[in-house]
Amino acid sequence: MDDGSAQATWAILVAAGTGERLGSDRPKAFAALAGRPLLAESLERLDASDWVDAIVVAAPPEWEEPAILLAEELVASKVTSVVTGGATRAESVRNALAEVSDEALVVLVHDAARPLVDDAVIERVLGGLDGTVEGVVPGLAVRDTVKRVERGLVAETVDRDGLVAVQTPQAFLADRLRAAYAGDLAGATDCASLVERAGGRIAVVEGDPRLGKVTTADDLRRVEQLLDRSEP
Ligand code: C5P
Repeated sequence: MDDGSAQATWAILVAAGTGERLGSDRPKAFAALAGRPLLAESLERLDASDWVDAIVVAAPPEWEEPAILLAEELVASKVTSVVTGGATRAESVRNALAEVSDEALVVLVHDAARPLVDDAVIERVLGGLDGTVEGVVPGLAVRDTVKRVERGLVAETVDRDGLVAVQTPQAFLADRLRAAYAGDLAGATDCASLVERAGGRIAVVEGDPRLGKVTTADDLRRVEQLLDRSEP
């Protein structure tokens, strides 16, 4: 493994979720996607990206060794370390951040549960870090009508105007991400929410419908179908 110390853009790949809704006998990152662990797809893609200099993977407890072996099998030479994930996504990111070089300028955080990451979206989020914002996230406009429901009844129809569904990879200035993760992590559903809470400005660029999160077995089949049609 490369020690990555002189690299500018580090990627954190969070893969430590349990994936209970998948109904698999193993953590989600190791569920089979087209005959390989789900984690292989995003790891290979990040490793192949010219935009990414070094990668830290957060693996589920007791799955660190399989993650290291997978990185070796894929010859993912940018992987500098595999850390043990935490009880929440935010804790997994914090554990991984501890392994990111102090010299990193930008940190890209990506969910292994979104296997079809590509250079186009990486370029969009990195390109959005133009000196006026601390972070950039990919988002898709919400097209369906959104309602807030309480005990089975509609409490409110939410104004859809300006609403976006946010994905990963998310890009941040490394020092701002570290500062955000030094505080309370409670209630953080993504990294950007912590940077926002710390007063950071976050820009939104166009997301990608193929970056939907794998949650159920049906999602795995859907991504397999997309894989048949997309170049890695
Ligand atoms: O659970 P969910 O699919 O929302 O998780 C999003 C991403 O965060 C997944 O890639 C998952 O592996 C990761 N995660 C993690 N540590 C946790 C929970 C989730 O790395 N404790």
